[in-house]
Amino acid sequence: MNKMENKVEEILKQLTLEEKIGMIHGAGLFRTEGVERLAIPPLKSSDGPMGVRQEYENDNWKTIGTSDDYVTYLPSNSAVAAAWNKELAYETGKVLGEEARGRGKDVILAPGINIKRDPLCGRNFEYMSEDPCLIKELAVPLIQGIQENDVAACVKHFALNNQETDRLAVDTIVDERALREIYLPGFKAAVQKGESYSIMGAYNKVDGVFCCESKRLLKEILKEEWGYDGTVISDWGAVHTTKETAEVPMDIEMSVYGDFENYYFADALLEAVKKGEVKESCIDEKIRNVLRMMLRLKMIGEESGMRRSGTYNTPEHRAAALQVAREAVVLLKNEDKRLPLDKKNLKKIAVIGQNASVIHSNGGGSAEIKALYEISPLMGLKTHLGGNAEITYAPGYYIPEKTEEPDTSWQERSLETEAEKDVAANQESENQSKESQDMIEAALALAARSDEVIFVGGLNHDYDVEGQDRKNMKLPYGQDELIQKLLQIKPDMVIVLIAGSPVEMPWKDSAKAIVWSYYAGMETGNVVAEVLLGEQNPCGKLPETFPVVYEDTVTFENGEFGKEGKVEYKEGIYVGYRYYDLKKKKTAFCFGHGLSYTEYQYEDMEISLEEKKEDIEAVIKVAVKNTGSVKGMETVQLYVGAKNSSVNRPVKELRAFAKQELNPQEKKVVTLSLNKEAFGYYDMEKKAFVILPGEYEIMAGASAEDLRLFKTIKISKEYIFQ
Ligand code: BGC
Repeated sequence: MNKMENKVEEILKQLTLEEKIGMIHGAGLFRTEGVERLAIPPLKSSDGPMGVRQEYENDNWKTIGTSDDYVTYLPSNSAVAAAWNKELAYETGKVLGEEARGRGKDVILAPGINIKRDPLCGRNFEYMSEDPCLIKELAVPLIQGIQENDVAACVKHFALNNQETDRLAVDTIVDERALREIYLPGFKAAVQKGESYSIMGAYNKVDGVFCCESKRLLKEILKEEWGYDGTVISDWGAVHTTKETAEVPMDIEMSVYGDFENYYFADALLEAVKKGEVKESCIDEKIRNVLRMMLRLKMIGEESGMRRSGTYNTPEHRAAALQVAREAVVLLKNEDKRLPLDKKNLKKIAVIGQNASVIHSNGGGSAEIKALYEISPLMGLKTHLGGNAEITYAPGYYIPEKTEEPDTSWQERSLETEAEKDVAANQESENQSKESQDMIEAALALAARSDEVIFVGGLNHDYDVEGQDRKNMKLPYGQDELIQKLLQIKPDMVIVLIAGSPVEMPWKDSAKAIVWSYYAGMETGNVVAEVLLGEQNPCGKLPETFPVVYEDTVTFENGEFGKEGKVEYKEGIYVGYRYYDLKKKKTAFCFGHGLSYTEYQYEDMEISLEEKKEDIEAVIKVAVKNTGSVKGMETVQLYVGAKNSSVNRPVKELRAFAKQELNPQEKKVVTLSLNKEAFGYYDMEKKAFVILPGEYEIMAGASAEDLRLFKTIKISKEYIFQ
């Protein structure tokens, strides 16, 4: 036994049953009980992916309201994914870890890595992508960045938490192949490569069993197959039983209620152990996992004096948030080189649309934070133009007042379905009031008398929100009609959309320039201004497909999204671009799409392939040249497709990518490597990944629909692996 395991056993021996029970359930909304006599501190956690959440009272959801819990507002995971930059994912994690530590936390409840199975999922803004390769390549460095600060990441939500409708109980049914190829690779990489110290058990059921009591997910897959020795923490209120949950590797029960002694892992578990209904060895296993994490975090043990100290709100953190936000802006359309705007000739600018000025950081559910500041696009434009242009703002569309009671937290009601209904009611009561008409008229009049019109719309956290899915993929608040009217007055109007998930753009063909930003943190407004004014060359790429209309999605076709009770993932592996490829369906903007103010030419592709005994090593070199006159960054995407396969395989799958900075006229060779995982499919009979001998096409390009270089390689033997 190694040193750490010895230490774990040594501490375990000294703990009483009562002390152990205290360590495995919430004794505060975000902490467990410590054991003072053994110098074991309580384990303190906090949300979330966009920054460390504000402080709450220990046993209720009243915010403490001091001024010391403002933090760096980081780009959401969807924005991190749009940057397609592994170093920046690491930087994001580093800031998050250092700030969590600075705020005295041990566990940060991030990142969110569930697959974006459907564009309407309310929490898509917190998640990265529809593609497992992009997720795992970014989640791993993000986790490493967090944990270098002696703070545990808690990857969430394990597993198949892909919708908010009936999120507390919905039963998800998915075939083994889709599970292994699409839904699990992110989590597997997070625990094996990222070595995440903790993982969050999801609310939903899988095959009729709640995730937090699933023997299959937690014991067979996570522990036995993946060799996980970290801690499993329940989502808040995701535990429903004492004995069943105690008997699987689900270690710490957390919830949203302040009656901690009534938790399933509190008095009831103590009783059950005393009565012999649950073996004490089950509790010991949990304690081992918790102690191991505490030792790794240097919370206890010999190294406890050496734990790193953290900090928050530093200029370096803000610089990192700025850089991620910059690289996350996606230029969706730029006809006739409409952008960038000519800064010197800007005189009268109309900025129309509420997303130019609203603040997003304080919404969305558990991802909400108290941002130290948040630069709105309107402020960003004003500060960048420095008084040299007249900027007039008009809200343009009307957002109905919320009916929610101001004093209650959504989270304390989050386990009641009524709470969800309240919010839904807000969404539906979009009355086209007089106020709305006046706003439209004012906006049209302003547009008519301005030289430049910039529309800034999209969604907000009434739509991109935990606890409910969107009802449709349309822009809310009558924005489509407003945009259409504005385009009649100013056909060259620039459109900026800020949102956490795709929207339909029925006016897309008549618009010249469309810029997209996910919720990109405290510097969103500055980066929008930089991109519009050409101070920054856009380089973000979509981490998900934007369908033309919602009816084009596979989940609309099979009717298996957003249902209560049970959802069957009938599309199997055909999620996101894999489905559009299969059906040869047109997309509005495809996976991986993102334009630039320069052009990139893809030149030669060279492949060297080595078929080893247990693995495959393919090294692919692609030359990329910046043929324009401004510096830029291009993400080279590498897809693999099995040719003439006897089993159903997607036309292509993203298997590697790399971002490269290029000066004007500069050419660089990008090297990407693939191993056996890039070629296999999951065989349900063999219960393993299989590579069949045959031809595989390697495709390199700028997006899923803009492939530039192709080469076929031949694999001569069969591989079977886990
Ligand atoms: C969310 C989790 C979050 C937890 C704690 C739950 O409602 O699903 O993602 O970490 O609350 O706030």
